[in-house]
Amino acid sequence: MSSLLRPTVNNTLRLCLMCLALCLLMVLVLYWTLEPTNSCSTRPWPPPSKLHYLLASPPEKPGDHFMCVIVPFRDRFEELNEFVPAISHYLNLQSVAHAIFIVNQVDTLRFNRAALINAGFLESEKELARLKSPPCDYVALHDVDLLPTNPELPYRFPANGPFHVAAPGLHPKYDYPTFLGGILLISRDHFRNVNGMSNRYWGWGLEDDEFHRRLIDAGLQVQRPKNITTGKEATFKHYHSSRVRKRDMEKCYEQHEVTRRRDRETGLASVSYHTGRLFQNCVDNVPYTLINVVLECDRDRTPWCDCRGAPPREKPKNLVRDEDVIVPLIKRKRKKSTAAQNSN
Ligand code: UDP
Ligand code: MN
Repeated sequence: MSSLLRPTVNNTLRLCLMCLALCLLMVLVLYWTLEPTNSCSTRPWPPPSKLHYLLASPPEKPGDHFMCVIVPFRDRFEELNEFVPAISHYLNLQSVAHAIFIVNQVDTLRFNRAALINAGFLESEKELARLKSPPCDYVALHDVDLLPTNPELPYRFPANGPFHVAAPGLHPKYDYPTFLGGILLISRDHFRNVNGMSNRYWGWGLEDDEFHRRLIDAGLQVQRPKNITTGKEATFKHYHSSRVRKRDMEKCYEQHEVTRRRDRETGLASVSYHTGRLFQNCVDNVPYTLINVVLECDRDRTPWCDCRGAPPREKPKNLVRDEDVIVPLIKRKRKKSTAAQNSN
């Protein structure tokens, strides 16, 4: 009896083993082909954690420094495609843990770099919490069209105060002692302590000068790179042609009078916006988060958020200076340098 049954048992066992092998094969095929949650599908697989698909370089362990790159943004996708892989590669060479947040202004108002930075500061924090990621302990306020080319510029945690990477003398275009634009690293605590940036600056310019004054008033010392010898010509690449990307320098209503002065009212605590869609995107295998932001404008306080239909200016510009005036005094140059001509 038992000898009669043996072939059937063997066959059943063989069949089971084959089924098991087939199942294993299917699992493996699915494992390799299934798309992860964004298009960074050719990143090392399996990833150390799911966060590696959503954030460029998450910190290795809780408590490590972690930088959120906050990019105020509108309509510069060509520059963005250059920026994301290049900055991530640059930061990885310095072993700086980082995540990239593009704060995309999608309303019809004038561009407001500082309000977008405020919104990005708050939204990056929320998004990291939602992803159960460690929070960033510092941010890089970063223009999308400015890329470091000298590998020696430090992006590490700015423990001694805000660190201005795109320093005067190094930035290809701007060179005055209080310049603070382009790229600035600041700890989350310091950014909060000064109530972020002013929300009054619609259109191009002065928001960074006002921020410089906030830092000084709070007793913070701005630090800058030391021993960099590549100068204005070879420290950064500024992907900006002023013919293609015109700067919005219009001034309407009381904009000139109000924005030339220190703002002690608006900031991080009062930035008014709502968010639209959030995209987990990828360029050349580097993930970044793009957040659509609709800024809201109080037209009684800052009607210059939209100059359409504004009456022509009548009053001559007020040029009187007192200690609250934040407009820098810049010496006009007679001749343009080669760097300034390439980067205008
Ligand atoms: N920006 C943008 N879209 C605009 C205007 C400005 O994305 O329409 C962002 C972008 O990150 C840019 C930064 O704001 O790098 C600073 O603006 P811009 O390059 O015009 O100023 P610059 O420093 O060259 O004078
Ligand atoms: Mn620019």
